[in-house]
Amino acid sequence: MSDVTAPPATRVLQSFVGGRWVDALADEHRVSRDPATGAALARVPLSGAAEVDRAVAAAREAQVAWRATAPQVRARALYRLRDVLDAHREELAGLVVQDMGKTFDDALAEVGRGIESVEAAMGGVHHLKGQTLEGIGTGVDAELHRQPVGVVAAITPFNFPVMIPLWFLPYALVAGNAVLLKPSEQDPLASERIVQLLAGIDELPAGIVSLVHGAHDVVNALLDHPGIDAISFVGSARTARHVATRATGNGKRVQALGGAKNAMIVLPDADPRLMPAQVVGSAFGAAGQRCMAGSVAVLVGTAEEQDRSLALIRDAASALRSGPGGDAGTDVCPVIDAAARERLVGEIDAAERDGVRVVLDGRAADAGPGGANLGATILDAVPAEHRVATEELFGPVLAVVRVPDLDAALAFAAASRYGNSTVLFTESGSAARRFRYEADAGMLGVNVGVAAPIAWMPFGGWNDSIDADLSANGEDAFRFYTRQKVVTTRWGGSGGGGMRF
Ligand code: NAD
Repeated sequence: MSDVTAPPATRVLQSFVGGRWVDALADEHRVSRDPATGAALARVPLSGAAEVDRAVAAAREAQVAWRATAPQVRARALYRLRDVLDAHREELAGLVVQDMGKTFDDALAEVGRGIESVEAAMGGVHHLKGQTLEGIGTGVDAELHRQPVGVVAAITPFNFPVMIPLWFLPYALVAGNAVLLKPSEQDPLASERIVQLLAGIDELPAGIVSLVHGAHDVVNALLDHPGIDAISFVGSARTARHVATRATGNGKRVQALGGAKNAMIVLPDADPRLMPAQVVGSAFGAAGQRCMAGSVAVLVGTAEEQDRSLALIRDAASALRSGPGGDAGTDVCPVIDAAARERLVGEIDAAERDGVRVVLDGRAADAGPGGANLGATILDAVPAEHRVATEELFGPVLAVVRVPDLDAALAFAAASRYGNSTVLFTESGSAARRFRYEADAGMLGVNVGVAAPIAWMPFGGWNDSIDADLSANGEDAFRFYTRQKVVTTRWGGSGGGGMRF
């Protein structure tokens, strides 16, 4: 894949293998562009199996000594990582703005979330402790040990190029694993910078962290390589299913977090001072390109009550300004590229042809020099089964579904094939309690538009939003990156011998 419109001087990214920056083993490249301007930022090598081979060889070698390094010393490397990330917050956020497109404040919040994952992993030595049970027979004891899985590959999406690599790297490292990071080929610059910062940490041996670039081929090579023991993946549901199927078929441990279609249920008693800003921030923040974005507003009540809720939401959304993520006044940033905008406009056009009412039309916004700006869009009177109400569009498009009561709202949310997040806006404790008990999703919010769990809690959905038993972050991360081994021991002199069948 070549791009003749990119200036010839556009930097070619390198791989990080065996503790050194090296030219990637790749013949083809993809150009990563600034979504706001369309400017070429880097040529991303589309590596394949040969690149994975040499990175895995270095990782396997490094992991032997890393596993033998005391856990508290491994944790110390994360203290350094935390400090170095803290010192580079603005720089990392700037790279996210440039390469992915989101606003600077949003990017800073993303970096902060990533640092929190490092902080949660720093305290992880506790989670690496085993268990013992004494005297399970005469002179017989049982002990459980947690050992590293080995070599882990982290394959990440475009929408959180700092936070999502940090959902995986610190936990895997403190648990004694080597890590190969394969960031999104659409915006790899912030992930590259994280690896540069990791490379400066003396406690981390050469080869323990690798960076490889590419798209499908390199991912498939990671999924197939016998030297890789576990795969941590985040991306669309379709890719997650592919990754989980192929990697488990190859005998690997897998956590694959997929896409989402998150409902925001608005009851008539929702606080009018709180609800609109939360709904609009969730639907249109990062131009709707978050797995936790609320992309369907389920308005509950009589037609009059539904109209009132919609008016509040539409008024708040009408005030949003779309433009470059780097401009201080921007609320709705560009989507990842011009092709994504074109796809989203096609979805809105098709919904309109199907009789859906466009009550706020983001197609009117200037697409900008990068061709990727789309304004906040609200679609009303969407039938519950229409694809704009059921499928992830991943853009600043909010579908409105109208239902008479909470029963119907919960039934609509439960019918989704996804189950990442559902949120409820109400002042009623009993409605909130029922919602918490019945909602069919992994991450719920009550009067919180983006109910993304803090790093000390697990982050993961249900149903097609995840192909895994264990989520990212929290206690789950330590479970995923360790294998447990139970030893049953008897020593002579305990009197418990004798032949038994
Ligand atoms: P994507 O699936 O296109 O890409 C994710 C990764 O998979 C990238 O590294 C890419 O190179 C690789 N990939 C893509 N297609 C592939 C294929 N056919 N074979 C092998 N590898 C492939 O996802 P994206 O567009 O980068 O990210 C957006 C998606 O991620 C959305 O669906 C969003 O909901 C989801 N997401 C989920 C979570 C979560 O926690 N569940 C978090 C963030 C993003």
